[in-house]
Amino acid sequence: MGSIFKRTLKSAIYNPAAERLMSWMHRHKPRILTYHSFPKTQVENFARQCEHLRRYYNPVSMDEVVTFVRDLKPLPPRSVAITIDDGYRDVYEFGAPVLRRFHIPATLYAVPAFLDRQCWLWWDCISYALFHSPLNQAQLIVPGNELSPATFALGSVAQRQALATHISISLSRFDDQSRWVQDFAQRLQVNLPATPVPPYDAISWEQTRELAANGFAIGSHTMNHRVTGTLHDPDVKRFEINGSRERLEAMLHRPVHHFSFPNGGIGDFSHTDIELVKQAGYSSAVTTLIGMLDDEADCFQLPRINAGADMDLSFFKMRLAGLFQYTHATNIPVRVSGD
Ligand SMILES: [Zn+2]
Repeated sequence: MGSIFKRTLKSAIYNPAAERLMSWMHRHKPRILTYHSFPKTQVENFARQCEHLRRYYNPVSMDEVVTFVRDLKPLPPRSVAITIDDGYRDVYEFGAPVLRRFHIPATLYAVPAFLDRQCWLWWDCISYALFHSPLNQAQLIVPGNELSPATFALGSVAQRQALATHISISLSRFDDQSRWVQDFAQRLQVNLPATPVPPYDAISWEQTRELAANGFAIGSHTMNHRVTGTLHDPDVKRFEINGSRERLEAMLHRPVHHFSFPNGGIGDFSHTDIELVKQAGYSSAVTTLIGMLDDEADCFQLPRINAGADMDLSFFKMRLAGLFQYTHATNIPVRVSGD
């Protein structure tokens, strides 16, 4: 869909009276919002979102969400929990100061191997390779069409951006993304640095400890951002689910209670995975299934509403109020060049 059409659609959807009505109708259903990164250019917009949250909603922690779902302990009307997946450095640099300013608690689901500088997040490799390629067009093999390399134009930032999104979404259901990523980089004539460079780099352990001491809960998002539903070896699943918790607890010196399934959509996690998460001792697990929480919510398959520091404020208000079912969400946060 073209971006002008999208913008028109979003502003057509915005209606203050409808927003107020929907927000009131759903006032007893807590929401969990999903964020990923906070580029400097999006800080002001994010602050406007936080101002709205603070003024018209009641920000709560994931611990409070768990007591609502598990123990049926009531929460204030229009409760909302902020969650942030992955653990980029800009969460510390630009996101956390805004949250602090508005006294909004948040949960960061971190990927320990990323914080240990042992891996890139794979979609960032694709984004990096596309934005650093010297080529004006490239022959790439895209998942689902392995037998025939296709030629893609790389003449403009918009073309590179669209291709990064397309490839990332196509790859998101595979488990061997690193193999694809190496092939893309080679075909794009790009040498990937051994560890992520800004703005793709991770928060440090020291910064994570500082957040944990200042109102952030730190949860796990698996050890290596592996999509648990695509893993077959139970030992590998356990390493990703239990091992990540152990690593976080050892580095943060505090218990880790909350888990976030990577990708988190239908098919990205199985019943076995949910059982493993319970056995590992977590008290909740969030997904990217879209929705609000009610009496029937399951603590280990909590739905969320996809947000983003760059999300248009009117659109953000409508989503938060309950119009999320008419919008399309992807949890692959492909960065725009220059962020
Ligand atoms: Zn993630």
